[in-house]
Amino acid sequence: MKECQVCANIEIKPLFIKDGFPYQRCPKCGLIRIEPQPANEQLDAIYNGKYYDNWGGEESVFINMKKKTFFKILEFLPNVKNENPKPALLDIGAATGILMEVACEKGYDVYGIEAAKDGAKIICEKFGQDKIVNGYFDESFGKWQEGSFDIIVMCDFFEHVKNPKEVLKKTYALLRQNGKLILHLPDAGSMARAILKKRWTNFIPEHLFSFSQSNIKIILKNTGFSINMIKTEKKYLNVQYAQNVLHYYAKFGGGGVVFGI
Ligand SMILES: [Zn+2]
Repeated sequence: MKECQVCANIEIKPLFIKDGFPYQRCPKCGLIRIEPQPANEQLDAIYNGKYYDNWGGEESVFINMKKKTFFKILEFLPNVKNENPKPALLDIGAATGILMEVACEKGYDVYGIEAAKDGAKIICEKFGQDKIVNGYFDESFGKWQEGSFDIIVMCDFFEHVKNPKEVLKKTYALLRQNGKLILHLPDAGSMARAILKKRWTNFIPEHLFSFSQSNIKIILKNTGFSINMIKTEKKYLNVQYAQNVLHYYAKFGGGGVVFGI
């Protein structure tokens, strides 16, 4: 059996099967994972479609709502409009670039990595080819030298990665000294998850791992980070958006926010 990616425990217990995928839980640290993970072709089929159609496209009502969420996530970052050079911020899992827009408004020099073709195309139109890499993080991080970024953001990204420890090590290397990582992801220790059990809307095939506040602290510490702040918050939703999302991709329901240095 493949050992727990957080605590290296080798006695992982089966939890349930959902949509044909076997979920397991580590009794020691509580990490929930899909094991074996979906095949590359299955994941490619998910990401290479019109992944962001369920975000409501570029309609202003959805953009404003997303912006509100990202403002909240980035609220502790200082406004750096008057700094020269501008601090560099990398958004990993940049979606359609809305978080990059918010960070840009605060004065940051923004860059993004996005696996979905449709999302990367929209970002390219907004920011230019040199600001966005269309690909998976594992294949893309080498584009930048170590110590290139002051801030790295992973919003609804970290639960998608195949090797969370490797991703954090590479992320750490991309950060400058005193750089910050902002992680935003669903909280598997939430009340919603406890009540809904396998019906929790974050248990979807592309979420390969479900972290709780306690085990994400462990994996961050084991990869060199120290935790600066952890908080839980709700996403901003309106009814139309919730219906859109739930129809295609019931994803939202209890979100955790982790800030680490
Ligand atoms: Zn574990």
